[in-house]
Amino acid sequence: MNLEIQKIAADKKKTKPVFDTSLGFGKYFSDHFFIMKYDAKNGWHQPKIEPYRQLTLDPAAMVLHYAQEIFEGLKAYNSKNGIFLFRAKDNLTRMNNSARRLCMPEIDIDFVYDAMKKLVLIDKEWIPTARETSMYIRPTMIATEASVGVRVSAEYLFYIIVGPAGSYYPEGFNPIKIFVSDKYVRAVRGGVGEAKTGANYAASLFAAQEAKKMGCSQVLWLDAIDQKHVEEVGTTNIFFRFDDEVVTSPLTGTILPGITRDSVIKLLRSWNIKCTERRISIDEIMKGSKDGKLKEVFGTGTAAVISPVSELHYKDEVFNVGSGKIGDISLKLYEEILSIQYGEKTDPFGWVEKIG
Ligand SMILES: *Cc1c(COP(=O)(O)O)cnc(C)c1O
Repeated sequence: MNLEIQKIAADKKKTKPVFDTSLGFGKYFSDHFFIMKYDAKNGWHQPKIEPYRQLTLDPAAMVLHYAQEIFEGLKAYNSKNGIFLFRAKDNLTRMNNSARRLCMPEIDIDFVYDAMKKLVLIDKEWIPTARETSMYIRPTMIATEASVGVRVSAEYLFYIIVGPAGSYYPEGFNPIKIFVSDKYVRAVRGGVGEAKTGANYAASLFAAQEAKKMGCSQVLWLDAIDQKHVEEVGTTNIFFRFDDEVVTSPLTGTILPGITRDSVIKLLRSWNIKCTERRISIDEIMKGSKDGKLKEVFGTGTAAVISPVSELHYKDEVFNVGSGKIGDISLKLYEEILSIQYGEKTDPFGWVEKIG
């Protein structure tokens, strides 16, 4: 496949917002995007980087009716040391895992990785340079065949949009409150919980609204069978520190295998901090909060990196975490991961690639 590149005319470029942490998350998109098409006869074809534009879709496009859609989320980091991508091929590998689960065509990881790098560099003036800001990269695949019969689509679009991002939470790197849902569930065993697909998010919105009403910023999901064990939070995996052991839920098919989760596990183990993947009951967490063993709770994800948690709201009770401040391990992980992502520290894991 030949990647065609069509650049925007200088006078058509968008006006950029102010690049600081007030950028928020996911509100601005750059001047170009990458797009390619798929059909059964031609496979993936017509890959192109072109000026950002609207898509035209048939109102019967299958994605609009049956949610055959997958996506990814990763970032490019810009510092005085250069422009870096963090574990980007792992995101594309995970995208192919999601594609298989949703009966969608896999992409050629090396080709798309190369196109992604080119897109980031063409729009590099859209990568903010302040620490804690970055360029968010959103690869997306949608089913486009016009048909309202329920079956696998024969046509798809794959595209990548990028844009400047500040902090994910209005709170910034500060503790958040989370709401433990004992009524709604996110994903059930055998479902699509481990795929990064829009359907999981559609299913989560109602409970997220309930959490907001309770003054919490996210939902902590419990397992869908007996609602006893923790799974993950809205857009992040979750870790608990009981005294000197850090634990996180195992990958049993109902949670998203986070790349930040994996990085945190590897970093903790490299620091000789005990980190265990095992089931964690909500009872153990409530008990830990009461007897003081629960020292830290934090979420992990590309968007917020580490989100310290200060309070868990469960069945009309509030469970405090440690002192309510950012814990030592949360802070150390946050600093370490950022230093690696911004190319400030040597990366012993081979996670970053300098692309510019
Ligand atoms: C994307 C995502 C995460 C975090 O994954 P990272 O690879 O660390 O960004 C966690 N949970 C869900 C449901 C997600 O969609």
